[in-house]
Parts: sequence; structure tokens; C-alpha cells
Amino acid sequence: MTLPDCRADLALRDGYHSPQVEVAVRLNTNESPYPPPDGWLQDLAAAIGSVAFNRYPDRAATELREALAGLHRVRPDQVFVANGSNEVLQSICLAYGGPGRRAAVYEPTYALHSHIAHLTSTEVVQGTRLGDFSLDLDHVADVSSVSKPDITFLCSPNNPTGNALPATSAAEILGLSPGLVVLDEAYADFADWSALSLVDDEVPLVVTRTFSKTWSMAALRLGYLIGPARVVASLERVVLPYHLDALKQIAGRLAVAHDDEMRRRVAAIISERRRLQGALENLDVEVWPSEANFLLFRPENRKGDEVWRALVDRGVLVRNTSNWPGLASGCLRVTVGTGQENDAFLSALKEIL
Ligand code: PMP
Repeated sequence: MTLPDCRADLALRDGYHSPQVEVAVRLNTNESPYPPPDGWLQDLAAAIGSVAFNRYPDRAATELREALAGLHRVRPDQVFVANGSNEVLQSICLAYGGPGRRAAVYEPTYALHSHIAHLTSTEVVQGTRLGDFSLDLDHVADVSSVSKPDITFLCSPNNPTGNALPATSAAEILGLSPGLVVLDEAYADFADWSALSLVDDEVPLVVTRTFSKTWSMAALRLGYLIGPARVVASLERVVLPYHLDALKQIAGRLAVAHDDEMRRRVAAIISERRRLQGALENLDVEVWPSEANFLLFRPENRKGDEVWRALVDRGVLVRNTSNWPGLASGCLRVTVGTGQENDAFLSALKEIL
């Protein structure tokens, strides 16, 4: 007997992962440094007793979608929910990508956009960004007219660079793109502007969001999309029956009621980001402006791998982006943590430099 081979086109693809090292200060995956609000935990504990665990959950996640629709002032049929925004992205590729179809990405950007496209046999068209990581709209126009992508992935604020897409560019790109424009807004709560205002049943734009960052609920694996009702209906065709479990539906719905607390946390993280940025500017590092909860920086005259390892040796884990395509070699990405965690990172970095 021999074990069968998996699909040949998966052979060269490494799964996406950030190495998890046991350290005291974890600033590598852009989660919230705070636990979720106590009130939410209490609400959840009280609600668990009413779950009919012997039954399948509400397949349409009606109450969760109503809560999210209320939060964003859209209709529930314009909301699609899934297990993390990664599953939202996967559903988009399953429904709008696939063999014979193309997705455009502008590197450097969130690696999962092209990774999921590959996994779903969607051809990836790679565009580039300007030196400051903004998008050159003439280049986007060229990519769109030459390759005619079925999906155009954008990310604002962009991971791993932190810059946000200006509102005017978003509107212009919508006009240029032949297919569906996916704006990944995992970090939009930390920025000044969101494309949610552009969503309309007649506009080929979807905006993806997550509970993993601002909501302090990365362990929950809950993400969603706001978009045209017809697109939401198409995405529902590709998810498995009952893909979203009952507990997650309740947890997400109850979280929305703690929106105020979430906004306070976002404000605290933005103020820490500003402090961290200022402190990095006073060191021998290049640091890029960010509208997210992380900062991209590059130690001058030092190898990124070495600095990353030296930080780990001092109990601080950041994301090693030093060999990422499209980034200058030696870049590292640090998530904004609590004041204490940021201090620990800064003093370790000062010592190393
Ligand atoms: N989009 C972007 C831009 C991200 O950085 C991440 C998390 N790394 C995600 C989506 C995935 O989020 P989720 O935890 O909801 O799958």
C-alpha cells in the first residue's frame, strides 16, 4: 500500500504561518493586547445555557447578521459571516475565482490573498506598489485592462506596510476594475476612513472585517463581509452547511453590544502606536507611517534576521518580514501592544542597536 500524493500544485506551497516562540512579549500577529471586556464574558456565560447543543445552529446566522447590519447601518442580506476573515476570503475565491479565473494583488500585501487564490486554483496576477507602498493608479489601470482580473484584492490599512488607501483612490480603482473589488479592512478601525460608505447593491465592492483585532477575539475565529446582497447570496453557495457554530454566532452578536468598550481600546492602541512610532524615529531605524495596530520598521545597517533573533533572545517576538517579497530586506513588523509590552520591545531594541 502507498499513500496517495496530494495535488501537485500544492507541493511548493508552504502553509502561511508565523512562528510561535514561547516568549513573554508577543508582538507578531497583530492581535489586540487586551482580553475582551468582562461584560461580554459574563453575557456569554449566561447565554451558553440556552444553546440547543443537540441541534444544528441557525444556518443563516440571522441574529448575528442583524447585529452586524445594525452596527454598520446596512441590511442583513448585505452581511456574510464566516470563521475568520480568512474564510471570508476563501469563500470569495471559491465563488469568484477558481480555474480559468484571475485575482490581482499588489505586493507587498497580506500574503493570504495570493495564498488562498493559489489554493483555489485561481491564477494570481502580481502588481506592485510605489516606494511609499501606495498604489500607482496608472499601474492598477494597466493590470486591470491587460489581465482583466475577476477579483482585485486590496488591503487598507495594508498589512504589512500599515498605509491606508485614500478614499479617492478606492473610488477610482472601483471604476477601473472589471471584476469584484475586495477591500480587506482587518485594520480599518485604527484608520480614519473606511470604504463601507461605498458599499451598495449595484457596486462591485465587498469590504471584509474581522473580530480578531479590534474586538480582542482572535481565538473566536469570526469574520464578516459587507457587500451587495447578490454577492452575499453567491458566497452562501460555497460555504459548508452550518459552517458557523451556535456559540460563535452568540458570541459575535453579544460582542456588538460592547462596541463602546471596543472603541476605547482602539483609541488606546492608536495613542500607543503614536508613542511607539515617535520612539522608533529616535533610534537608528527607518519606520513607516501606519494607520493600523502595527508598525513596519527597518534597522539601519543591520540584518533583519539578526535583529529578529536578538529580540527573541530578549523575550520579544515580532514578525520577521525581512525576506518578504516587495519589502526592502531587513524589515520587521511590530504589533502595538500594551504600554509595558511596547516599553519592553523598545528597550530590547535599543540594547541591540
Ligand atoms: N486580513 C488581514 C489583512 C490580516 O492581517 C489578517 C490577520 N493576519 C486577516 C485578514 C485574517 O483575519 P482572521 O483572523 O479574521 O482570519
